[in-house]
Amino acid sequence: MKIMTDKEVKHFYNKSEWKCKREQILSRDFYECQDCRRRLEEASEKGIVLHGEDRTIRAANEVHHIKELKEYPELALVDENLISLCTQCHNIRHGRSPHRFVKRKKRLTEEKW
Ligand SMILES: [Zn+2]
Ligand SMILES: [Zn+2]
Repeated sequence: MKIMTDKEVKHFYNKSEWKCKREQILSRDFYECQDCRRRLEEASEKGIVLHGEDRTIRAANEVHHIKELKEYPELALVDENLISLCTQCHNIRHGRSPHRFVKRKKRLTEEKW
C-alpha cells in the first residue's frame, strides 16, 4: 500500500474535492464535535459528573481522518473514516498538547472584590 508524502497531503487539503467533503461531514455531524458528544454520553451512562467546559459539546471546526490520511490515502474521502471534531479534541486525538487550556488560569481570583 502506498504512503502519501507531505507534499501530497498538503496538496490534498487544498483540493476542492476535500473542501467539499469536509463541509459535507461537518453538516452530517451537525457541526458538533463527536468526541465531545461521546464524552457527555459516556459520562451520563457511567454517572460521572463533568465540570466547566467538559459539560458542553463544542462546535466542530475540523474534520479528522480516523485512519490517517498519509497511511490510508484510499480512505481520504470515505465518510466512515471522517469525523467532525473541535480543536481541543482533535489535538488530543493527535497527541498534541492542548495549549488552549493553559491560558485561562486564575480568572476568579482577579475578579475577587
Ligand atoms: Zn470536542
Ligand atoms: Zn486529524
